[in-house]
Amino acid sequence: MRYLKINTKKHKYLPAITIKNNILYVDLLCYCSFFTKSMLLSLEKLNIELEGELYFQENNPKHQTILVAYSTDASVYQEKPLAVAIPHTKSDLLKLIAYANANLVTLIPRTAGTSLAGQVVGKGIVVDVSKFFNQILEVNEKEQWARVQPGVIRDDLNAYLKNFGLMFGPETSTANRAMVGGMIGNNSSGLHSIVWGDTRENLLEAYVLLNDGAEVIFKELNPQEYFAKLAQKDREGEIYRQLNDIITNKENIEIINSGYPKKDITRRNTGYALDYLVDTNQPFNLCNLLAGSEGTIGIVTEAKIQLRPLPPKEIGLLCVHFADMVECMHGNVVALSHNPEASELVDKYILDFTVGHPTYQYNRFFIQGDPQALLIIEFRADSEEEIIRLADALKQDLISKGLGYAYPLVLGATQSNLVWDVRKAGLGLIRNLPGDEQPVNLIEDCAVSPSDLPAYVADVQQLLKDEGVHASYYAHAGAGELHIEPFVNLKSPEGRRQFRSILEKTTDLVLKYNGSLSGEHGDGRLRGEFIGKVLGEKVYALLQDVKNIFDPKGIFNANKIVNTPPMDTSLRYDKVVDGKEIKTYFDFTKDESILRLAEKCSGSGDCRKTEISGGTMCPSFMATRNEKDTTRARANMLRQFLTNSTKQNRFDHEEIKEVMDLCLSCKGCKTECPSSVDVAKMKAEFLQHYYDANGAPFRSKVIANFTKSQQLGSLVAPLYNFFSQNKFTSGIIKQFVGFAPYRSLPEVSGTTLKQWLKKQNTPTSKRKVYLFCDEFTDYNDTSIGQTAYKLLTALGYEVLLAPHKESGRTYLSKGFVKAAKKLANTNVSMLKDKISAETPLLGVEPSAIITFRDEYLTLVDADLKLDAQKIAANTFMVDEFLAQEIDKGHIHAEQFSAEKQHIKLHGHCYQKAFHLVGYTEKVLSLPSNYTVEVIPSGCCGMAGSFGYEKEHYEISMKVAELVLLPAVRSANADTIIAAAGTSCRHQIKDGAARKSYHPVEILYNALIK
Ligand SMILES: Cc1cc2nc3c(=O)[nH]c(=O)nc-3n(C[C@H](O)[C@H](O)[C@H](O)COP(=O)(O)OP(=O)(O)OC[C@H]3O[C@@H](n4cnc5c(N)ncnc54)[C@H](O)[C@@H]3O)c2cc1C
Ligand code: SF4
Ligand code: SF4
Repeated sequence: MRYLKINTKKHKYLPAITIKNNILYVDLLCYCSFFTKSMLLSLEKLNIELEGELYFQENNPKHQTILVAYSTDASVYQEKPLAVAIPHTKSDLLKLIAYANANLVTLIPRTAGTSLAGQVVGKGIVVDVSKFFNQILEVNEKEQWARVQPGVIRDDLNAYLKNFGLMFGPETSTANRAMVGGMIGNNSSGLHSIVWGDTRENLLEAYVLLNDGAEVIFKELNPQEYFAKLAQKDREGEIYRQLNDIITNKENIEIINSGYPKKDITRRNTGYALDYLVDTNQPFNLCNLLAGSEGTIGIVTEAKIQLRPLPPKEIGLLCVHFADMVECMHGNVVALSHNPEASELVDKYILDFTVGHPTYQYNRFFIQGDPQALLIIEFRADSEEEIIRLADALKQDLISKGLGYAYPLVLGATQSNLVWDVRKAGLGLIRNLPGDEQPVNLIEDCAVSPSDLPAYVADVQQLLKDEGVHASYYAHAGAGELHIEPFVNLKSPEGRRQFRSILEKTTDLVLKYNGSLSGEHGDGRLRGEFIGKVLGEKVYALLQDVKNIFDPKGIFNANKIVNTPPMDTSLRYDKVVDGKEIKTYFDFTKDESILRLAEKCSGSGDCRKTEISGGTMCPSFMATRNEKDTTRARANMLRQFLTNSTKQNRFDHEEIKEVMDLCLSCKGCKTECPSSVDVAKMKAEFLQHYYDANGAPFRSKVIANFTKSQQLGSLVAPLYNFFSQNKFTSGIIKQFVGFAPYRSLPEVSGTTLKQWLKKQNTPTSKRKVYLFCDEFTDYNDTSIGQTAYKLLTALGYEVLLAPHKESGRTYLSKGFVKAAKKLANTNVSMLKDKISAETPLLGVEPSAIITFRDEYLTLVDADLKLDAQKIAANTFMVDEFLAQEIDKGHIHAEQFSAEKQHIKLHGHCYQKAFHLVGYTEKVLSLPSNYTVEVIPSGCCGMAGSFGYEKEHYEISMKVAELVLLPAVRSANADTIIAAAGTSCRHQIKDGAARKSYHPVEILYNALIK
């Protein structure tokens, strides 16, 4: 989309025109609509020429899925691109540039897509270089630099550089997914920027493809080299000459120097960095302009970046508590005088959202009382004593000035990371705000001198009060930049008015303090409209000249920084739907509605982290590295279809099915997504509606009815096992059902666990527990159930058999929510009078037992809700229960063997989602000489039936190969592999040919009988 910006009064009769603030925006593509057909034909041709992928076809659900997935970033904007390209090679990039020139289409370079100002949202061809341009090319340890491709993730790079004792300094809160290309584009920096600098400061050289396809190197030039560039006869020489005309003009130098922010403001990302180019105190390097140019002047194919030694090993965070925000800003000025590594703000809103949060409630250990603001001040040193000394000096200084009320000092990397994680998750956490008033990125990137912060914050508070708007304040106080997120309802006309008005008024404050409109997040399409006001219209005209010099046809990320569309157009929420009117089988009241739950996705991209930074979310993305396979893509797809569908059944869309296909329903997102976007639950809900409209596939029915087939099988166990284990007949079964030929089928047991338990002569005891005979343990892993019984009985518990049906897990995993709902009602009705704190319900299979603690709560009928909650509160994994019994002093190490044993433990995804792995680790560590190593694995990849399904087998194994299987293979023969999940044990057996054991088996073996 090209926008022509013409100052005018009125042009209301022209089509495809928007008039905002006396500016006329002409959508030229509208006039070119008759080109659309020929454009599609030419895209077909381009598709054939590219080695990589191109998605653009109108009636192709797969293509449309990808176009929708790329229609947003982490900003409030949304626009479906014309096409999405995933180039494989540099030659692909050149073909794309040639195509863009020939067809006047803009290319939008993109890496992780975590931009907050709409930098990677637009109607051009999104060029995603994250997947195939991700190599670390060279590390020069001695000279401390590295050469990398743009798709290298900052934290993954630093994990690699650790071996050299080096690191790349600039960091964002998104550092576990943000990539070097995007960091250059936005000139990113982060919480240590006062010491480690921003990307511009650390960018030595860059290989850049210009608009004619020439690849040039931007680097520091001495005067001789500079003049040689000016003399070049090619496109590069032309660019240098035209730029030289701008930056050597006396009047230009004057307006640039007076228009740009105060010199002591290090966060200065507004517009192009002409202030650096006119600064004759530093050598000329076009990298200074490239950093922060947001993909608008060329495509970076390689960067040489400055590295720095790792910081001193000891870390301490002085977490100063304040009763008032402005007081906190005064505290920040004092803190800076003590030369910390970082000084960061977290406000009460963010802290409040950590209360009861599935992950962040565990990070609150250092909070005292109810602070309005918290300043986290980091010190680094070679010894803990030195840290304590530095922190104490600051504490005394603050106390002497009457600033702050509590000063806990958090020491060591592990605890400090927990504190920093809260700060980094700030934006995601405030996204949990109920209702349509939501935090918006708007004035979150303005920076002033730290000494101006107290007055600036007071002014902003007044401004927002006048607008009747609340806001959250957090982030880089030390660098003078606060992320101030006003809570605005962008679905309402009043909210959209506030959206514009707040930014407009804040620009007056930016001018008042000679600050920077954008500090680190860039201008994108959000702030461009106001650059002229802040830097001066003449400077703005120079910025337009810069864009024209590099890109006269607008083939590189047009309409970002300059010539931007109105900041309140192409918003995500142009159409408003009341989510509560969408009928669902699960009860989404807690999330307001399924639509609201999907809308909670802020686009932060935490679901793009890799196995190197760890965690579970999102295994399908970790395996494929496709944006389509992120939690974010799934949430956005649902949001868009639930909002825009014109069908009676809004779920009935192939595109949603396409994007959900590789979701393993692992629940990783339920906990790890800062906004708790629970896609596993939304996927099950979607599937049921999709089946309602289209019927369910045969294989899904077979899997959902697994219990019935196992029940029948167990009646004729020898015969069933003969057919299921025999290579020939099992091959036929697998082919018939649609399972992967390489998978082994589970055996059934002739005597089910229930039958066996009924025959036991259980000794009575005061300590009674109910054992849940889930469908997998009852029919297949019967011996594990028997061992659990023996272990509990030997430890003095009376094990009772509770009356119940199957858990419903197999139905839930395939989206038969109606059937699961019936089972949930039945089980809760049968168990409600039996399960209590004195008589808890225990199970051995996480996927089944956790159903009571998760899905049942929102599945059962209203009259059973309280009963379901009571049962959930008293339902445990056996190992979790035993860990609690250890704490109560009911179980002792002396009851177990003193032999040496090492165990490698893999946690089931649901155990991870409910923070239960620690209990298993504790229980297995009880025998005095047992050592437990938790494998830092995510999902095992099997995920119930997912790994069985023939089209998913390969992805399933890829997921397993990320961490789990290599860790199992590297274990020596004496090491025991522990895994509580039946799927996980199956995956380990199929993938590493190794037997693994349920924790209860290991404990029972260790028990002195
Ligand atoms: C929750 C949250 C917290 C954040 N915290 C911070 C923070 O602390 N500090 C900070 O600075 N930012 C922060 N950001 C913003 C964002 O994460 C950073 O700007 C990040 O560096 C962008 O990286 P990316 O890989 O996502 O880039 P993208 O969003 O994909 O792209 C960024 C820009 O770079 C351009 N680009 C990408 N690749 C190329 C290429 N090969 N050639 C030319 N141009 C290219 C794009 O066109 C775009 O203009 C935050 C964002 C979120 C959502
Ligand atoms: S799903 Fe969650 S983690 Fe992923 S982008 Fe959305 S909010 Fe962020
Ligand atoms: S449930 Fe698992 S696979 Fe599905 S979106 Fe969430 S993290 Fe990804």
